[in-house]
Amino acid sequence: MGNALVARLFDSVRRAGVGLRFETALREIIRQGDDIVGAVLSSPSGEVAIRVRKGVVLATGGIGWSRDLRERLFPDAARRLSLAPPSNTGDGILAAERIDAVIERDLESPALWMPSSVMTQADGHVSVFPHIMLDRAKPGLLAVDKSGRRFVNEADSYHDFVAAMLATSTTPAFLICDRSFIVDFGLGLVHPGTRNLRGFLEAGYLVEGETIEALARKIDVDAEQLAQTIARYNGFAATGLDEDFGRGSSELNRFNGGPRGKPNPCLRRIGSGPYYAVAVWPSDLASSAGLRTDSCGRVLSRDGKRLSGLYAVGTDASSIFRGTYPGPGTMIGPAIVFGWCAAMDAAGTLRRFLDPPR
Ligand SMILES: Cc1cc2nc3c(=O)[nH]c(=O)nc-3n(C[C@H](O)[C@H](O)[C@H](O)COP(=O)(O)OP(=O)(O)OC[C@H]3O[C@@H](n4cnc5c(N)ncnc54)[C@H](O)[C@@H]3O)c2cc1C
Repeated sequence: MGNALVARLFDSVRRAGVGLRFETALREIIRQGDDIVGAVLSSPSGEVAIRVRKGVVLATGGIGWSRDLRERLFPDAARRLSLAPPSNTGDGILAAERIDAVIERDLESPALWMPSSVMTQADGHVSVFPHIMLDRAKPGLLAVDKSGRRFVNEADSYHDFVAAMLATSTTPAFLICDRSFIVDFGLGLVHPGTRNLRGFLEAGYLVEGETIEALARKIDVDAEQLAQTIARYNGFAATGLDEDFGRGSSELNRFNGGPRGKPNPCLRRIGSGPYYAVAVWPSDLASSAGLRTDSCGRVLSRDGKRLSGLYAVGTDASSIFRGTYPGPGTMIGPAIVFGWCAAMDAAGTLRRFLDPPR
């Protein structure tokens, strides 16, 4: 889950003799003319200003929990929940904006989205669970809106799933299944095979109904329509063809489907009750909108000029995929590449690398 990668980078940094300051946060970037010459940091011993020889590389984790940036850049329905660490509060982007850097807005989406369910634990802690691929594509689950209708191919990527939620004003959406689905695959925070569902039911995370009608009433969804939707879905399970949304029609769908599902690994009959529902909400797993940079991660000002000595990488920089989600690695891949480019450019060795002497 990334720990080994970060540990290896940390080891390299220590071997290179780089000075590290923990519990120290960027507050302001110091600009003189078109040059970035330093930064103001807050540390446990107070505020310090440092002068830089080569440059400042911003890597503070993008929009994150910044209320200001979320309100300016995200659609209403996606502002509440983020999967960013609480430490990420938009500091790099906001500090750069104050010295005339600009946020790229002309993107397909300001973030990569994830449907997440939310449970308040007994100790008050709130768990936000990302529905990455453990349940949505598995056979025997469907997602509906308030009217009891499906609105998306549930097995598509998390980003596409939420994009459909936003396009159809579906917040929340409900993932629906029967008991055997929970036994086989689990549902969100409920692990496969969990026998005692009481804690999840009492917390209101999981909703149970002996019949489809009872479930629909509890989640305030049109009962007649939900029954029709399930009947139609069961028809698709028999033929293996989802005529409405093509569930199971792509390699990605089938890869994340059920290993023994036939004829379609993403479809299975929803059987007898009890039935279950979990609400999922839009959340961001990474911001795509960030600072406008050039091909070396150099930050550009409002008038398109280089702010000499200022770089942005990771989610502090606008995504090169411009708010689309081509597949796994969309964030970490560019973060590593542009981190490297920024460091090489600041050191003055990038050109030599790109155009080696013959
Ligand atoms: C569930 C989930 C699954 C994902 N899966 C993938 C995947 O498979 N592939 C992929 O490519 N991406 C994936 N992502 C996205 C990816 O993890 C993030 O986009 C990426 O880690 C962001 O890297 P970053 O360096 O921009 O920010 P971060 O890794 O969040 O680092 C930002 C750092 O800056 C620090 N910081 C914040 N403010 C300041 C300040 N003022 N001064 C100093 N430091 C500060 C923070 O403490 C933090 O350590 C996933 C994300 C989630 C939530």
